[in-house]
Amino acid sequence: FRTVYQSFAEQAERHPDKVLFELPDGRCVTYRETARTVRRIAARLVADGVTPGDRVAMQVEKSPEAVALYLATLRTGGVFLPLNTAYTGAEMAYFLDDARPRVLVCSPGRSADHADGAPEGLVVETLGARGDGTLLDGAPHGGETLDDDGHRAEVFAASADDPAAILYTSGTTGRSKGAVLTHGNLASNCRTLRESWQFTEADRLIHALPVFHVHGLFVAANLVLTTGASMYYLPGFDTAAVAGLLPRATVLMGVPTFYTRLLRSELLTAESCAAMRLFVSGSAPLLAGDHQAFEARTGHAILERYGMTETGMNTSNPYDGPRKPGTVGPPLPGVQIRVVEAETGRELPDGEIGSVEVRGPNVFTGYWRMPEKTAAEFRADGFFVTGDLGRIDEDGYLCIVGRGKDLVISGGYNIYPKEIEDVLDAHPDVLESAVIGVPHPDFGESVVAVVVPAPGRRPGAEELLAFAARDLARFKHPRAVRFLDALPRNVMGKVQKAELRERYGGLFA
Ligand code: ATP
Ligand code: MG
Repeated sequence: FRTVYQSFAEQAERHPDKVLFELPDGRCVTYRETARTVRRIAARLVADGVTPGDRVAMQVEKSPEAVALYLATLRTGGVFLPLNTAYTGAEMAYFLDDARPRVLVCSPGRSADHADGAPEGLVVETLGARGDGTLLDGAPHGGETLDDDGHRAEVFAASADDPAAILYTSGTTGRSKGAVLTHGNLASNCRTLRESWQFTEADRLIHALPVFHVHGLFVAANLVLTTGASMYYLPGFDTAAVAGLLPRATVLMGVPTFYTRLLRSELLTAESCAAMRLFVSGSAPLLAGDHQAFEARTGHAILERYGMTETGMNTSNPYDGPRKPGTVGPPLPGVQIRVVEAETGRELPDGEIGSVEVRGPNVFTGYWRMPEKTAAEFRADGFFVTGDLGRIDEDGYLCIVGRGKDLVISGGYNIYPKEIEDVLDAHPDVLESAVIGVPHPDFGESVVAVVVPAPGRRPGAEELLAFAARDLARFKHPRAVRFLDALPRNVMGKVQKAELRERYGGLFA
């Protein structure tokens, strides 16, 4: 068993001068330099009192040093806890109180937020986007791993069951929960993806995702770090910047909005993608229309996969073999997926919609300090209840039809929003849609369609209702249509349906 840290250290030994990060200003950071920064930070963490099992929280702008902090935490046996840079002071107070980290590394401009009111004993370090701040301001120890008192900071010999990270979920369906992931979880999922996607040291990945989320950290960064590959490391997604890198890169990992935006750029062509070998999409459903348009334009079928904070990646469309739009592919090797009736746990025949459950070495050990919640989301036989609804198609591919919490129950009938969204999205005047249930005095809930018109189009509500009515049973018909210029999304491209429900909750009151 090799941890992610050990795999990275091996790559750094093997080719120290290879570029690991290439930044937008052309600056390059090698494996050797990164390994050295990791040792310096590790020594600092030890000096700050971090011992195995202690949490090390981070809320900083994306930088190569932020990734080094992640590796340094693993190296010392700490538990890495990255936090969304958008969290406000009040939100941070909740996370710090919940997770009780030994050290918090924050942006230099925000250290005052944590001056008072911070949990007792918390050490606050700072790290700026250019590596500035207190975390790295001590004199470098010539690559030696000594803490401030001259002690040697040893590499922690982690076993597969030791916790490596706590990642908070995106908070799409309620308050974020801390998922405790082990070294075994991270290493096994990384190895599985490496093999499934044929990732090698020759790859040059475009990294435009945040590093506080499973997608940017445990999928994108881990794959690069452990295979000895290189990445174009961008502070965020910028259409022109990403499109400009395509001719020099081999892989892009993105959320669906990356692809929606790239499709609007003239820089996206078959020629500009000639050196690319793989486009991956996940974290939210990719519009089937975008999948088809992307393939028509570039010749590349986007590979959609499905995962979550608690489990890493569960399923993936095949590298070799048909990548089917609107599906997330079969289970990854070693991962078991089943679709069951939510109430009874009875496994459903293929084709029927039910609750998606997953078991495998990728699945987390539980929610941080939430034993009841953890117990409620695991079945006796070890399957984790994802909260997503799906069905297995005739080829064994999983189709996600939405979240259990977004299911609409109207007049006693179950209504799956995705089915109605698919019908509406097929209308030429519709760019995309989100279907929600809102309280209704007679039916319990009623269906509301929130529609984003296609550019330059102005569909009428009556026309859309009539269009939807043609293909849907009566009880599924939307009772109201509302138009928006864009759906509310978070940074990972997830539609915020709770926000829509709040906004339109009074329509039938
Ligand atoms: P919370 O659990 O706090 O409500 P969240 O579930 O959005 O937030 P994440 O762990 O970031 O937090 O997201 C995992 C979820 O993202 C999955 O459960 C699934 O609903 C969705 N998802 C991920 N990939 C896909 C995909 N390819 N297609 C559809 N949905 C996806
Ligand atoms: Mg979730």
